[in-house]
Amino acid sequence: MISVEEATKKLKSRVKPLKAEEISVLKSFGRILREDIRSPLSIPPFDRSAMDGYAVKAANLLGASGKEPVALNVLEDIPAGQVGKFRLKKGTAARIMTGAPLPRGADTVVMVEDTESAQDRVLINRSLAKGTHVAPAGEDIKKGERVLQTGTLIGAAEMGMIAATGRSKVKVSIKPKVCVISTGSEILKPGKALQPGHIYDANGYSLIGLATELGADARFLGIAPDRKGALERKIARADDADLLVLSGGVSVGDYDLVQDILLDMGIKRIFYKVNIKPGKPVFAGIQGKRFVLGLPGHPVSCMVTFKLFAGLLIDTMLGKEETGLRRRQAFLSVPIRLKPARRKFLRGILKETDGRVTVQPFHAQESSILKSMVSANVLIDAPEGVTELKAGSLVDVIPL
Ligand code: AMP
Ligand code: MG
Repeated sequence: MISVEEATKKLKSRVKPLKAEEISVLKSFGRILREDIRSPLSIPPFDRSAMDGYAVKAANLLGASGKEPVALNVLEDIPAGQVGKFRLKKGTAARIMTGAPLPRGADTVVMVEDTESAQDRVLINRSLAKGTHVAPAGEDIKKGERVLQTGTLIGAAEMGMIAATGRSKVKVSIKPKVCVISTGSEILKPGKALQPGHIYDANGYSLIGLATELGADARFLGIAPDRKGALERKIARADDADLLVLSGGVSVGDYDLVQDILLDMGIKRIFYKVNIKPGKPVFAGIQGKRFVLGLPGHPVSCMVTFKLFAGLLIDTMLGKEETGLRRRQAFLSVPIRLKPARRKFLRGILKETDGRVTVQPFHAQESSILKSMVSANVLIDAPEGVTELKAGSLVDVIPL
């Protein structure tokens, strides 16, 4: 049996980023950027007014006050989107709106509230420091600046940033096609009437959720019973997948046929069985560019092993800046006794109170208790060989 690290290493050495495609920025939410974005322009591209008011030269307002206002001739109106025609000379101002470019000769904007207008003149009640209410060119972004790095997850702010540089299209990773099959003769499609001895499929749904969350194009191929022909037919439908994930049927029971069928179909084994709890019986294989994972049927084992192994594959295929599991640390709030044999990923509830981050294990840790995944927000990573984790000790946690 190999360790999680050895298993991950075996996958890492075989998986590569998929191709990139160019798509509309409007459709890019949640995608992974596959180019550096540099701005070909300064943002804003010109010195612009940050207020509605009057563009002036600060030096012309020296000594202005409510009692002794300075009177300036208003040369023109400059709304946003227009460029002033005149250069400001001594004794002049231009009416200007927020977002409009400062006219030549101006260096400061006086807010409407600090002025009184009188026909084509304006009275200014105060002096201002040069540059007041002016957003200088390049205040946000300098021309040539790299604003986003390849591998970044595109969210709302990133979409706006890309568009602000003048781009309507952007290069992103194609979404890995992840096909999911649930196996087991007892597994029933939700929506059908429950039959004796059957349970509804949970894994198919959790796996589609996890794959979607990671940014894959996740497709559910349905449920296959524990019969060779039926399993083979389902598996064959995933020929063009980048990753095929099956749950159930990969252990050592009489009806656990998945591994043998996969090997018969020409899929080469990368590893089988990893020294973890939950999730020991996990199969990883490869055929051409397609990866295949056979995950244990217990819903918790299934989700945990997906996060460990499918997560790494999908992240790498997407060319993400960071791949695999993110980690942080927390103080354990109660002691945990453990059997030393296997590396454990316990479901835990992380809390942050007054800056102290604590984690408490969920009361039921059996791999069949799906409820623990609903309640938990982290997995507590308990190393192999450890028999006790003391209350107050610092442990590694993996956010779910
Ligand atoms: P297996 O790995 O096939 O031996 O299954 C282990 C346990 O997980 C059994 O109790 C199965 O009924 C259960 N199981 C397998 N597949 C699913 C599924 N898709 N949804 C919910 N439970 C499942
Ligand atoms: Mg089964």
